[in-house]
Amino acid sequence: MSKTLFEKIIARDIPASIVYEDDQCVAFKDINPGAPVHVLLVPRKPIPRLCDATVEDQALLGHLMLTAGKVAEQLGCGDAFRLAVNNGAGAGQSVFHLHLHIIGGRPLTWPPG
Ligand code: C5P
Repeated sequence: MSKTLFEKIIARDIPASIVYEDDQCVAFKDINPGAPVHVLLVPRKPIPRLCDATVEDQALLGHLMLTAGKVAEQLGCGDAFRLAVNNGAGAGQSVFHLHLHIIGGRPLTWPPG
């Protein structure tokens, strides 16, 4: 099977501005940022959508949440940041490799569009 775009970024086949990585995940700046801080946190495991994750992925999903908070802090968001997961094309997902958007650095309104 061909690699997803984010697998290629993880493998350094294509460039990205990586801000964090560990043995389970990689975070890099979104190429089209919607805020001063807009980073994508992706698991190394290529799970296409959140709804494709299974109970086997429970620890990984927890790790992503905890890591997202650390990355937001590292990038100076303080306690004001948003995590977003677009699940499926109808919700705006365009890259089918699970990713958390970490968004901050400006006032955030609710609800999102
Ligand atoms: O949630 P969704 O799948 O729409 O998010 C994909 C994100 O990947 C977009 O915000 C897009 O700007 C980003 N992207 C990127 N680098 C690429 C291609 C897409 O950061 N080379």
